[in-house]
Amino acid sequence: MPESIPNAFIAPLTAHFGVETATQVLKALEDEPSVSIRLNPRKSACAFTSKRMVPWTDHGYLLDARPNYALDPCFHGGGYYVQDSSSMILERVLKACAPPRQGTYLDACAAPGGKSTILLDYLNGEGFLVANEVDGKRNAVLRENLLKWGHLNHGITSISTERFKESYARFDVILVDAPCSGEGMFRKDAFARKQWSEDLVRSCTRTQRSILEDLTPVLKEGGLLLYATCTMNQKENEEQILALLDTGNFELANPDLSNLKDFVLPAVHADAIIGHYLLPGISTGEGLFIAALKKKEGAESVMSSSIAQRLQPADPAFERAFPTLTPLALDFWEWKDEYYGIQNAAYAPELFYKRLGLPCYQIKGNDVIPLHGLAMMESEIEHLAVDHENALRYLRKESIYLPHEMPKGWYLISYEGIKLGWLKAIGTRTNNYYPNGLRLRI
Ligand code: SAM
Repeated sequence: MPESIPNAFIAPLTAHFGVETATQVLKALEDEPSVSIRLNPRKSACAFTSKRMVPWTDHGYLLDARPNYALDPCFHGGGYYVQDSSSMILERVLKACAPPRQGTYLDACAAPGGKSTILLDYLNGEGFLVANEVDGKRNAVLRENLLKWGHLNHGITSISTERFKESYARFDVILVDAPCSGEGMFRKDAFARKQWSEDLVRSCTRTQRSILEDLTPVLKEGGLLLYATCTMNQKENEEQILALLDTGNFELANPDLSNLKDFVLPAVHADAIIGHYLLPGISTGEGLFIAALKKKEGAESVMSSSIAQRLQPADPAFERAFPTLTPLALDFWEWKDEYYGIQNAAYAPELFYKRLGLPCYQIKGNDVIPLHGLAMMESEIEHLAVDHENALRYLRKESIYLPHEMPKGWYLISYEGIKLGWLKAIGTRTNNYYPNGLRLRI
C-alpha cells in the first residue's frame, strides 16, 4: 500500500500556493509518475514512440510508459538520459542567463549526473565542468553517466563543499542542486513520502545553507549561482534565496519564463521574481524549484590563482592509430597507465580529481589499446553497425557475430548510429572490450 501524503506537508503547501494550486498538486501526487528522456544532442537520435516534447527544451520527450531501458543499446551508448522533465528547465535557464561558455563551471551536488549533462551540452565543448559528488557510491554512478555522455571537457571530484575554499579553484558558474526533503519526488518515490518530516525540512535547510556558505566565496565576481531543489516548501527554497540576497553580495538573475506560465510558477517576494517552481499536476513532471543569482562585482571573494595540471600531449603511436583526432588538440592525463583525454585543460582548476576527461588509450608494448571514453566521445572514428541482437550480446560481453570476416584489428561497434564500445578481431575470433563494470547483466 502506498505511503500517504504527510499531513504536515499539506497545510504549508496550501498556505504557500493557494487552495486551487495545492489541490491540483495533491491530486497529481496520487497519479502515476511522469516518464521522460532527454536525447544526447551529440549522438544520433534513437526511435521513441512518443513525440510529445517537453516545452522548454529541444531534446526532451515525454513518454507514455516506462520502457525497459536496460534492453535498449542506445541507452548504454549514451544516446539519451532518463530525466524528469522539470529538471530540463535548467537548459532554458542557462540559455536565458547566457553565462560565457569559456569558463569554469561547478556542479557541486552532481550525482547521478542529469544536470551535469545539461551543463556539458550548454558548454558544447567550450569551458570546463567540475562535477562534484561527495557520496562515494553516487560518485561512481556519476562517472558512469558522464562517461556515456561523452564530453571531454570535464573532471569529477568527490570532495565536501567546504574544501573548495582551500583549493585554488574559482568558478564562473556554480550549480547547487541541493540535497532536500524531496517533496517533489512524492509521486515517484514512496521512500520520499515515508522519510519526510518537519525535522527533515529543518535539517535540509541547515545543510543547504552551509553548502551555499561554503561555495559562494569560490564563485567569481560577476559569476552565476544556480540553486535548485526537488522540493516545494519556502524554507528550502525562497528563504535560501532571500538569505543570499541579504548578504548584499548577490542580485537576482532569474530569466523571464512568462511564456511558460502554464507550466512554471514564479516565486514572488516584494514584487520581484526570486525563483520558479515546476509542480506536479501543473507542469509536465515532478516538483522542482530553481533560482539564478549573480554575484555582484566587488563582492567578497577569496583569491584565485591557476596552477598547471600534470598534462601531456598525445603519444605519437596514439596519433598514428587515430589520426582523425589530432585536430581536437587534446591534452592527456595519465592515471594507472591509462591516458585520459581532456579538452580545455586551461580551465581545469587544481583539485583532487576522481577522473579528468575521458579514458582514451593505453600503450602496451607496440600496441595502442583504445579505451571506452574514446568510443563515447564525439569523433570521426569509423564504426561498425550491428543489429539489436548483436548489440545486446556485445553489451553482455558475449562474442558477437560480425557481418562478415573482418581483417584483424580494432572495431568500434555501433547500433543505430550510437557507438557502444570496442572490439578486437583476431582472425576468426573477436575479443569484446566492453568495460566489465558496465556489463549488461540481464
Ligand atoms: N544534480 C543531480 C542530478 O541532476 O542528477 C542530483 C543531485 S541530488 C538532488 C543532491 C546530491 O547532493 C546527492 O547526490 C547527495 O549525495 C549530495 N549531497 C548530500 N549531502 C551533501 C552535502 N552536505 N554537500 C554536498 N552534497 C551533498
